[in-house]
Amino acid sequence: MLSPALEKLLVFQDRDQRRLSLETQIKHVPEEIAAVRRKIEEEKAGLESAKLALREAEAKRKALETEIGAAEQAVARFKTQQLEVRKNDEYQALGHQIETAQAQIGALEEKELEAMYAIDEAKKRLKEAEATVAGAVAAHEGRIRLLEEKAATMRGQLAETQAELEQARTEVPPPALEAYVRIAKRTPLPVCVPMRDQKCFGCHLKVSNGVQTDARTGAKIVYCDNCGRIVYWEG
Ligand SMILES: [Zn+2]
Repeated sequence: MLSPALEKLLVFQDRDQRRLSLETQIKHVPEEIAAVRRKIEEEKAGLESAKLALREAEAKRKALETEIGAAEQAVARFKTQQLEVRKNDEYQALGHQIETAQAQIGALEEKELEAMYAIDEAKKRLKEAEATVAGAVAAHEGRIRLLEEKAATMRGQLAETQAELEQARTEVPPPALEAYVRIAKRTPLPVCVPMRDQKCFGCHLKVSNGVQTDARTGAKIVYCDNCGRIVYWEG
């Protein structure tokens, strides 16, 4: 059977475990938030390729415009030269150069149309990417707010639990409390574990017959002879 001291100690342990669980969860919140913030940065970085594609399409169009301008200037120059030449074959040669340059301009203008279409496409893709990223970022920011709220709630629960823990501490007889504190320093919680089928539920190893008998009697604090935890008979 459970001794009154052990009953009090189990209440204390229950609150101590709750305290530890809350402290552990609160401790991890900043890491979780940092991980979400990294995701936001990744989402934003993903936009860079769409922005680069647009810049490249615009640069291509600009280069074509420069080429067209140069070809147009050449046509104008040839036409001026035509006015100055006197020989028919020279005039015809210039006429041929003008035709060639004009054909080149036509081809360049077609390419420019393609480039303009590519710019429109790149703008469309960037806009879509921005909308997707904005949605994802909003979801991530919502997650951060939830984590912050959760942390605030847990801090409140921790304060309550600590008060309850201190209350429970005053009710545990000092020898039992001292044993608990001593074991908790070197063994992960729980410190007080039930014993079933002559096995300690902390280390899952078989306890000696003496330990089992003492635990059944429940007259004193009994320790697992393997892991040193306090074992008790559940009845
Ligand atoms: Zn054990």
